Amino acid sequence: MLEIVTLVLGPVQTNAYLVADMESKAAVAIDPAWDGELIAEEIQRRGWRLTNIWLTHAHFDHFGGAGALADRCSPMPPVALHPADHPLWRMQGGAPLFGMHIDPGPEPTIDLAHGMLLHLGKDLLEVRHSPGHTPGHVIFYCASQKIAFCGDVIFQGSIGRTDLPGGSYETLIESIRQQVLSLPEDTRLFSGHGPVTTVGDERRTNPFLE
Ligand SMILES: [Zn+2]
Ligand SMILES: [Zn+2]
Repeated sequence: MLEIVTLVLGPVQTNAYLVADMESKAAVAIDPAWDGELIAEEIQRRGWRLTNIWLTHAHFDHFGGAGALADRCSPMPPVALHPADHPLWRMQGGAPLFGMHIDPGPEPTIDLAHGMLLHLGKDLLEVRHSPGHTPGHVIFYCASQKIAFCGDVIFQGSIGRTDLPGGSYETLIESIRQQVLSLPEDTRLFSGHGPVTTVGDERRTNPFLE
C-alpha cells in the first residue's frame, strides 16, 4: 500500500508529492517543488526514509526544493530525470528567465526512459515519456494503485503550457492521447498544479481534448 502526501509549495503553487511504501517506510519525493526543509521535516515527522527524488520534468518550480531536501538526507537520495530534460536542468529549469535562483541539488544520475519500471516497496511505477510541455517530460504510472503522477502534462480542465522553450502543442496533445487517455478511466491523476482528477473526468470534460 502506498501513502501519498501532497504539499503545495513555491511561487506558482506546485504540487510536491511524497509517496511512501507503508511496509518499509521507504519514500520518494516526486517534484520537490520548493522549501526543501519543509519537505524533509514532513518525511521525518512521519518516520519515513527518503530513497529517491523523481522529477517529472526540469522546470524550476518542480525541483526548486531538491537542493535543500537532499542536504537534509543521509545518504543523499539520487535524482531521476529523463535525459532530454538535462539541458533544461542545467539552466536551473529556466529560473533565471523568471528572475529567480534555485539550488538545483544533486545532478540527476538516474536516466529515466520510456517503459522503465521503478520500484517502491512491492509496487511498480512505469515511466511514460510524454513530451510537449518539455522534451523530457515523463509520467509515473502505478497500475496496482490506479494512480499516475503527470506533472504539467494535464490538469483538471486544462493542459500544460507549450509556449516555453522546447514546448510543442501538437506533441503535447499526442502525448496526452497516447500516455494518459490510454490508461483505465478510473486512474487518478496527480497533476503538477491543482486538484486530483481522473482519466475519465478529463476525457469527458477537458475542453482541450474535444
Ligand atoms: Zn512545467
Ligand atoms: Zn509546473
